[in-house]
Amino acid sequence: MVIAIDGPAGAGKSTVARAVARALGITYLDSGAMYRCVALAALRAGASLDDGVVLGRLARGLEIALANGRVSLDGEDVSEAIRAPEVSAAASRVSVHPEVREAMVERQRALIAAGDYVAEGRDIGTVVSPDAPLKIFLTASDAERARRRAAETGEPVAVVRAAQATRDLRDRGREHGALRAADDAVAIDTTGQSVDDVVRRIAALAAAQGTGQ
Ligand code: C5P
Repeated sequence: MVIAIDGPAGAGKSTVARAVARALGITYLDSGAMYRCVALAALRAGASLDDGVVLGRLARGLEIALANGRVSLDGEDVSEAIRAPEVSAAASRVSVHPEVREAMVERQRALIAAGDYVAEGRDIGTVVSPDAPLKIFLTASDAERARRRAAETGEPVAVVRAAQATRDLRDRGREHGALRAADDAVAIDTTGQSVDDVVRRIAALAAAQGTGQ
């Protein structure tokens, strides 16, 4: 069983998805961390971020493990390294390639087939798990999203907002796995809402349909 939480960067997906998973006692899957691992590996290898074939091959060869809130890449803990701004920018570029997406979607499906998950990303409800019984599309105003991310990274809000706009445009405009709400997703605007309120709302939706019990 999967609860899918999609939406743009800074909408609160990670915080909310982690808290919903904890509240329901199921596993949290951060699909963005996987694309970030591919980006980090590509940057380290000096691979072209425009070469889908090379990046797809690279992606398939990586050992990516997500456990206890940590991310490891080929045995190295990269939990902090994958959050660097240059990795965010590169993740948005490597994730446009269908070869990379296919490799990641395959892994994500294998993971979620083996248990109950709150899975968070851009294409969980549309591509990875279109049969998920509960799909949430989280949004927030551009200003609020930039403010939240800047508070996390320590960068100026204007810099974050510009980088976010570029990433959003690429995520929404790409041909494969584009960021969009599934037709049956429940849209929640988190602007001005506390994490607790959003988590309660999602837990109530899950309970109402018997998901996550
Ligand atoms: O969610 P996060 O910001 O960590 O994701 C990093 C990047 O990975 C996004 O900007 C997006 O381009 C890509 N991504 C994706 N599909 C997902 C999750 C993330 O394309 N399911």
